[in-house]
Amino acid sequence: MHINKSKDLFAKAQHFIPGGVNSPVRAFRAVGGEPIFIKKADGAFIYDEDDNAYIELINSWGPMILGHNHPLIREAVIKAMEHGTSFGAPTSREVEIAELITHMVPSIEKVRMVNSGTEATMSAIRLARGYTGRDKFIKFEGHYHGHGDSFLIAAGSGVATMGYPDSPGVTKGTAKDTLLAPHNNIEAVKELVENNKGEIAAIILEPVAGNMGCVLPREGFLKALRELCDQEGIVLIFDEVMSGFRLAKGGAQEHFGVTPDLTTLGKIIGGGMPVGAYGGKKEIMDFVSPAGPVYQAGTLSGNPIAMAAGLAMLTHLNETPSVYSDLNRIGNKLVGGFQQSLKKLGLNYTINHLGSMYTLFFTYNEVYDFDSAKNSDTVLFGKYFQAMLQKGIYLAPSQYESLFLSTALSDKDIEKIIEANEASLIEVFT
Ligand code: PLP
Repeated sequence: MHINKSKDLFAKAQHFIPGGVNSPVRAFRAVGGEPIFIKKADGAFIYDEDDNAYIELINSWGPMILGHNHPLIREAVIKAMEHGTSFGAPTSREVEIAELITHMVPSIEKVRMVNSGTEATMSAIRLARGYTGRDKFIKFEGHYHGHGDSFLIAAGSGVATMGYPDSPGVTKGTAKDTLLAPHNNIEAVKELVENNKGEIAAIILEPVAGNMGCVLPREGFLKALRELCDQEGIVLIFDEVMSGFRLAKGGAQEHFGVTPDLTTLGKIIGGGMPVGAYGGKKEIMDFVSPAGPVYQAGTLSGNPIAMAAGLAMLTHLNETPSVYSDLNRIGNKLVGGFQQSLKKLGLNYTINHLGSMYTLFFTYNEVYDFDSAKNSDTVLFGKYFQAMLQKGIYLAPSQYESLFLSTALSDKDIEKIIEANEASLIEVFT
């Protein structure tokens, strides 16, 4: 396999774009080698500039739950384009998608559309602060909530991949209001709340973390957070930018039966277009401008093309429950195959998995928080990543990411991935 055109493009890109990419993990620094440049994608496959085909297990970092270039989304976008690309004024589609979201995620009584997951989480924290009149919030180590200043402290995803504890440029003044707890440790959270009594506006978390690899909540953890927030008047925010519309129609909150006050959404909600949203209890959402005093706005928010894509995606998910049973079947088959290979090869590596999210961690330990995720051998992961790429399987270029499966994966694709996984593990260890 040669990637000459990608190499040339990357060399040129580095002259004009910092690091040659528009989002850090895309540069492949954590796995070595050079990034491949993508020309097109269709179904379960992406194709690079040198016309190599790869089976996709990232799916644009989550949004493409039905696979790439799905006809429903493509046609909705083309149809919407015929009427113009942006109006900066209300449209019927915004009302329709808001109603649909409140139906699919019942804890959301009102919702505001924004342009990214980052905007959604920044706005939700501002809202929680405005609503409670308190300044501090708790986030968990290894969770990633986008690149808003107050979240770039012990953050997961690209921040963890690059090995930055915090980002320069975030002021001490900002950082002091972000309190950090270890994931799955309710006692540590209680202690933080006790030591900052009456000062905490919100607890924000990924209910299923995907940004330190896939890490599930321990039994009772989400429920205990809910109870604590109720006792202390703290706004509980589930960041479901990854898990929303993926783990179930109503996201992780439906799967685990725990209801947050606010939810942040992104990725799938835009069908591949730049969209995010935050929503929740009416009483809190009515603090958002112009209903209330907490300011938040956007020139392109509710953009008609993005709304058309999102609406086509959500309508399909709402009307097709088999999407979720299919994703569960695909996830179980794939992870089952990986587990068989690991057993056969005498490797005791940890696989965390729920539905269509999974991570194969290069550690024998249980992975339940950021520290245990960091036990993984990232050098071995890098070799495994490259071996998979050579076999036509495109993984997230970092150990600290979840993989996202799509309904476009056929049984034949899954068999191919399982075979490539086993062959790559053998290669890594010989
Ligand atoms: N929250 C979570 C849980 C995410 O996974 C991400 C991105 O991966 C974000 C927020 C930020 O979303 P965006 O990259 O659209 O700004």
